[in-house]
Amino acid sequence: MPIYQTTSYQFDSTEHASKLFNLEELGNIYTRVMNPTQEALEQRITALEGGAAALAVSSGQAATAVSIQNIAGAGDNIVSSTDVYGGTWNLFANTFKTMGIEVRFVDPTDPEAFRRATDAKTRAYYAETLPNPKLNVFPIAEVAAIADDLGVPLIMDNTACPVLCRPFDHGAHIIVHSTTKYIGGHGNSIGGIIVDSGRFDWAAQAERFPMLNQPDPSYHGAVWTEAVKEMGPVAYIIKARVTLQRDLGYAVSPFNAWQFIQGVETLPLRMREHCRNAQAVAEYLESHPAVERVIYPGLHTGEQKRRAETYLQGGMGGLVGFELKAGVEAGKAFIDNLEMFYHVANLGDARSLAIHPASTTHQQLSAEDQLRTGVTPGYVRLSVGIEHIDDILTDLDQALNKAVGGLKAA
Ligand code: PLP
Repeated sequence: MPIYQTTSYQFDSTEHASKLFNLEELGNIYTRVMNPTQEALEQRITALEGGAAALAVSSGQAATAVSIQNIAGAGDNIVSSTDVYGGTWNLFANTFKTMGIEVRFVDPTDPEAFRRATDAKTRAYYAETLPNPKLNVFPIAEVAAIADDLGVPLIMDNTACPVLCRPFDHGAHIIVHSTTKYIGGHGNSIGGIIVDSGRFDWAAQAERFPMLNQPDPSYHGAVWTEAVKEMGPVAYIIKARVTLQRDLGYAVSPFNAWQFIQGVETLPLRMREHCRNAQAVAEYLESHPAVERVIYPGLHTGEQKRRAETYLQGGMGGLVGFELKAGVEAGKAFIDNLEMFYHVANLGDARSLAIHPASTTHQQLSAEDQLRTGVTPGYVRLSVGIEHIDDILTDLDQALNKAVGGLKAA
């Protein structure tokens, strides 16, 4: 796949140029809106998730923001799970508030909470498939059924478990990814993507979605559900591309798109190894006398076990959380003593990573909000890589021994 490292594209004639701008013909105009390398990435992730169309953007955060701004404005609301990434929480609780979009947070253990929080101004439901730190898999089918019932699209952030879960198979309507994580997989590029299943009938909900069903003054009065009907169920993605991406400019660079395409080629292989190694790490930590508790979907019981087994196919993911009996200081000492694990604010890398969320990724949340999202003061998060399992366990063992003074795993 070539990298189209270009800003703009030679038109065949003035007539051709005019047709492209008027959407009578789809084609490349300017890389802020469209680029062939970006398009190849969009086609591959669309195929991977079983969707109809996609828009690649410059970060996972941009994907989340745009997936909602494409259908919600001042005076509207969305209903979100409380269990979301710290950056998403900040976007929803603070930045969206300044834009007049209200976010109603609900507990995902009770799917009916989404129904109760819905009113005529609700434009979307939002959740993560496998949110850390709790690592409780979201009840996709249960909430999708409520979404279908009320005519609200369910947007799933599937960043933590590509390949393992395909949210569209369980009824979700839109998927977002931070491609920065497992899809890229090598810690070298920031990016995101929005995928539309093509299954949500925007025209049937004309009152709830005026942005897609009423004339858009920013595109000489186009009614999006009508204007691109001939092209298939692509109104949501085309509108995001030719209005929001045109105006806000969150385009992914062609080089980064190319890195993500490379990542997709080894994604299933890597996910398999992440899962295998993470399961072994979880079992090792569980047998260690210095460890208070281990959080891993493969160790869940009851309803959470049922959800993990229903939604995750081929493995329980690469993320493992744990807390040391000796508390916060021991947790920090553990991280400081790691030799092979990288201490970075990222996940989904081929290399093993560790972080203390309360003092880093979730630091900007209040203590109360940290607890609502599941971050306790002593919690350590591991993103288990694809190195040899002996190397991973050796590093964990020596760092734990230094942190807790010689207690050994069983
Ligand atoms: N969604 C999840 C689940 C994440 O973990 C992250 C980043 O950590 C994001 C979205 C945001 O992605 P990005 O860092 O690419 O903007």
